[in-house]
Amino acid sequence: MSDKPDKLITDDGLRLDGRRADEIRPMKIEIGVLSRADGSCYLEWGRNKILVGVFGPREAHPRRLQRADTAVIRYRYNMASFSVEDRARPGPSRRSIEISKVSREAFEPVIMAELFPKTAIDIFVEILQADAGTRTAAINASSIALADAGIPMKGLVTSCAFGKVDGQIVLDLNKEEDNYGEADFPVAMTQDGEITLLQMDGHLTPEEIKKGLELIKKGCKEILEIQQTVLRKKFETPVEEPEAKAEETEIEAEETEPSLEYAPEAAVVEEVIEEAEELEEELSEETTEAGAVTETVPEAEELEEIVKEAEAEVVDGEAIEEAIEAEAEEEAEEETEEEAEEEAEEEAEEEAEEEAEEEAEEEAEEEAEEEAEEEAKGPWKVVKDPSESGSRGENDE
Ligand code: UDP
Repeated sequence: MSDKPDKLITDDGLRLDGRRADEIRPMKIEIGVLSRADGSCYLEWGRNKILVGVFGPREAHPRRLQRADTAVIRYRYNMASFSVEDRARPGPSRRSIEISKVSREAFEPVIMAELFPKTAIDIFVEILQADAGTRTAAINASSIALADAGIPMKGLVTSCAFGKVDGQIVLDLNKEEDNYGEADFPVAMTQDGEITLLQMDGHLTPEEIKKGLELIKKGCKEILEIQQTVLRKKFETPVEEPEAKAEETEIEAEETEPSLEYAPEAAVVEEVIEEAEELEEELSEETTEAGAVTETVPEAEELEEIVKEAEAEVVDGEAIEEAIEAEAEEEAEEETEEEAEEEAEEEAEEEAEEEAEEEAEEEAEEEAEEEAEEEAKGPWKVVKDPSESGSRGENDE
């Protein structure tokens, strides 16, 4: 552990990390970082690094923990062994059990657990790097992860601590302030200002607590704004059409259009039309040139005829195109009819099968009933009339 600094607050009223007494550390939040969790959040607050995964509502195991009227909320705070200066001992400790309990209680008033009887809502908190205020940071991250999981809540929970350092009340203690300060006072509250967690470590006067709670209100308001901003950013962003889907649509559109690849006749018609158009252009150029001559020359007449023929060819080409289109439409109609017929046949077959099954079942039931009746009559009644079969029945004796 580093040595105690001479002063935790400088002469100009600033703290060692440059903050004023009423300022919180910078906070960075990422939502939905764990793909297997229903909701998750990664939060950095100063040098704290925290990961939260929320699972549920899901069937509570072991079953004896299930409650018929509500979901069970479970909160597990765990410090990674590498998260602190001296290695933290793995597994639950008195401190982690206490933090898990008070943090769960901080959420119980807002989570609408009564909507999910017999289920469990699990909140797993992993402290990856600790630098004082981990329980408050974890509550802020859990609040977002719960919202990310879509757990119905009456509102978000925000959390922040105040403390006493060098005789001054300051907001959101860092590691040095926590280690060498005189008091630490973590609080969690709902967005309506109801306090759901309140702890105190050290000595404070009622006036100091009052002053500290004013700082907490300010801090929690700022944190709530950050939480709401990140949640809005995630859930108000318009969902874009996935690229793959757009490509599929394009391919479908191409297939439904009559394509030259699948209609060689159309290609021939196109060629004829193009040739005719080219010819027409050439002729019109020549005609323009020829038009300069006032007298009608026999070549000009010939040319006119060729133009007419070419035009007729163009018209024919258009007619063929129309015919092909009509044919394609007819084919499509026929296909639809065929499909409808096939469907009707399949339905009829299915119905017939069902009927046959039902009949078979009924027969089987009847037989079973008959057998049961005969058995009930007793073995001597089962034997047939001897006059009919020629054999001796037991009751003949
Ligand atoms: N700490 C530590 N080892 C531990 C527990 C805590 O070094 O086994 C450090 C850690 O940085 C933690 C700080 O002490 O953030 C203050 O711990 P506290 O119990 O006050 O809880 P917190 O302020 O983290 O909610």
